[in-house]
Amino acid sequence: MTKMKDLTGMARFDRDLSGVLKGGLPTELINDIIEAQLELWPLAKANYERLSSTRRKPLSIGSLQGASQWNPGRAGSTGASVDAKSISERKCFLCSENRPSEQFSLPWLEEWELLVNPFPILPVHFTIACKEHRPQAALPLDMAAMAEQAPDLAIFYNGAKSGASAPDHQHAQAVLKSELPLLRVAETIHPLERPGLMLSRDAGVELPFSFISAVISPDAKGMAALSALPSLGGTDPDSGLPSYKMMNTFFWMDGRTLRAVVVPRRAHRPECFGTAPGKMLVSPGAIDIAGILILPREEDFKAMNSTKAKEIYEEVCYPAS
Ligand SMILES: [Zn+2]
Repeated sequence: MTKMKDLTGMARFDRDLSGVLKGGLPTELINDIIEAQLELWPLAKANYERLSSTRRKPLSIGSLQGASQWNPGRAGSTGASVDAKSISERKCFLCSENRPSEQFSLPWLEEWELLVNPFPILPVHFTIACKEHRPQAALPLDMAAMAEQAPDLAIFYNGAKSGASAPDHQHAQAVLKSELPLLRVAETIHPLERPGLMLSRDAGVELPFSFISAVISPDAKGMAALSALPSLGGTDPDSGLPSYKMMNTFFWMDGRTLRAVVVPRRAHRPECFGTAPGKMLVSPGAIDIAGILILPREEDFKAMNSTKAKEIYEEVCYPAS
């Protein structure tokens, strides 16, 4: 509560912050939250300002009109050691007691807290952390409710072995839905008039990987699709068994209808991952899978092209056909 009280003197937040998200998360509030956080936190402010000079180049792979982004600020996350020993030896940066004193949080639904991500990939980038320290388990369907409350955002989730840099503390993320090219592909191939699940393979378009699209109408068909989503992961390369750890999932609103996409995964990182000569520092999470490939090192950014990106996608996801 102390951190929240720190903000109550500010013009935009002269009220009890615990209730801020009860009315949802409209555009105006999104901007106010980010501005308020950056005023309090110089490190985050510098990182958001740096984003405006981030270099990008287009990467077109069939219907996915994506881009690569050179983002040195993401080196820590992309290169994070996610083995059990390394995780157990570091302090969890998503637990409230370990967060920097400048970082504030906004309670959302029963179990979650909205945080401004201090190492952004996009100009609006939130982390949505579980209030308790518990592992990145099966997909939480609270994300559907969050998407309904935040019509400008895509709420997304990295399975524990699919790009999550903190698999020990359950969390989702959110960015503006307009920033993620994969969502446009789903909107194009899967009409709202056909509620339920659809395989991208059945759409007859060229894609770098296969995914499952869901149109979640407020009826039995939509609800059946929603309840099926948490079981749609790929195969865990260690156990050889189907696993909720192997997927990236997105929820967003298309007008008044909720949509989701699940991308099953078969590898956490590509073979080329690394910093040795000939390797690339690339560790695809949901934003990369949605078409924005993040590269912290300039040499990897220069070497990236559509052919290499397609190879990486095919390696960590399942073939498109
Ligand atoms: Zn934690």
